Amino acid sequence: MDTLAPSQRVAERAHDVIEQVEKGVFIGGRWRPAENGGTFPVEDPANGLRLCEVADATPADALAALDSAAAAQRTWAAVPPRRRGNILRRAYDLLMARREEFALLITLEMGKSLAESRAEVAYAAEYLRWFGEEAVRIDGTWKVSEDGTARVLVTRRPVGPCLLITPWNAPLAMPARKIAPAVAADCTMIVKPAPQTPLTSAALAALLAEAGLPDGVLSIIPTTRAAAVTEPLLRDGRLRKLSFTGSTPVGRLLLAQAADTVLRTSMELGGNAPFIVCQDADLDAAVDGAMTAKLRNIGEACIAANRFHVHADVAEEFTEKLVARMSTITVGAGTDPAATLGPLIDERQRRRVADLVDETVAAGARLRTGGSPPDGHGYFYPPTVLTGVPADARITREEIFGPVAAIQTFTSDEEALRDANDTEFGLVSYLYTRDLNRALSMGEQLETGMVGLNRGYVSDPSAPFGGMKQSGIGREGGNTGIDEYLEQKYLAIDIPAPWPQSPGADASAAKGVR
Ligand code: NAD
Repeated sequence: MDTLAPSQRVAERAHDVIEQVEKGVFIGGRWRPAENGGTFPVEDPANGLRLCEVADATPADALAALDSAAAAQRTWAAVPPRRRGNILRRAYDLLMARREEFALLITLEMGKSLAESRAEVAYAAEYLRWFGEEAVRIDGTWKVSEDGTARVLVTRRPVGPCLLITPWNAPLAMPARKIAPAVAADCTMIVKPAPQTPLTSAALAALLAEAGLPDGVLSIIPTTRAAAVTEPLLRDGRLRKLSFTGSTPVGRLLLAQAADTVLRTSMELGGNAPFIVCQDADLDAAVDGAMTAKLRNIGEACIAANRFHVHADVAEEFTEKLVARMSTITVGAGTDPAATLGPLIDERQRRRVADLVDETVAAGARLRTGGSPPDGHGYFYPPTVLTGVPADARITREEIFGPVAAIQTFTSDEEALRDANDTEFGLVSYLYTRDLNRALSMGEQLETGMVGLNRGYVSDPSAPFGGMKQSGIGREGGNTGIDEYLEQKYLAIDIPAPWPQSPGADASAAKGVR
């Protein structure tokens, strides 16, 4: 019989899970210390304590990873599609079998509740399965040129070695969403995880190696010096692709660097999602959706609802229901089964959120619940609702990245659309209405890559995830997600037309003018 108290059991499991994770850089199929022996600490945001030390990769490590990726690219590209698909499928099976260990690891280094971490594991695993299925469906086309003098054979080839840079807010799903299509498309890759959450990426790399991914196809370089370590890679002509998920300011910087080598880029950047509740909306459904869109991932999601636009006639009822639901949330360590909302990632982020709230209240907004961080260890911030938020407040222009709902009102669809689109971001919007015409018309006019229609959640491996405007370039997932890692290449084949040419049609003359 197990006589340990639940908290003691979790502490022991946490210790074991951290012990088992590789802490080095992973290059050429080998885990090793950083070239200069440097390390950095990984912290548990629930208490600010150090979980372990991880190798702090240097620019020399990054170049060694690129040597390895470039050397492996040719042989990897010759691996049959079914074998690549099977590797991803095996990785899916392994990940689902180890769902609890991965969930605990995510919770320990990122903070979210175990229930949310389990959901992230399932979501990440689906990318492995989805792209495992796509690996065998990379096709091309064959057609007769328009003048009939040639054949056009279009193939799709791997783009080549990729650099994949990921954020801390979904430590498993973000790398999985890039690695899976890159593997399916035959690319080799170097993953640079966020320094706050390098352990989950390391565990994923080890799992992929166990699933059969050949040495050198995937390297991992955790580092605290992101710019210094990635800059030599971006300058090196052997790197062919950059896929980045993170903030818009860093995305802009990387795009400028990528211009020098005309690198293919995919950019999944920041958001500022409007959550629109029309007068005719089902308010209970809207509150359910708001809870998901606002509190999922502790509000630290690019697709988090950032600005609530609620029709003036239903604003008070919606607010009261939302405040009532927010008040049922229990804030606490993600490993505590009673807690539904974990800590923010670090003190800097908590300070940012607290400042945004204080500043908005000082500008005239009304605090309806929350607003004061609890005393004690860890970077907790309570669910918070603000009403009467001035339209020009900083909180309406910047990503909050915390559990704070800032509510404004509108009186017409035109006003809601104007306010919703009044941002340089364009990742996702949420729209609640029971009127089909209004839904389709407003859905069309919202300037975002994704729209949650009467739904507070849009992430789906079978859908194209991505943003318009300054929220990004490219899409991850869906039928076209693999295209981000493929180049089209066409062979012009000189085959004389088998049928008699019509009088006057001179094929060689036609060729000359093209
Ligand atoms: P961040 O931009 O600070 O960092 C993201 C990654 O880039 C990290 O690995 C970081 O170490 C690295 N980085 C930072 N500066 C760099 C530089 N100069 N050169 C190279 N790499 C550099 O973002 P974050 O705080 O880790 O994550 C939160 C942000 O990510 C939010 O803006 C969020 O909206 C965005 N995000 C977007 C999506 C999406 O799909 N659109 C998904 C998740 C998160």
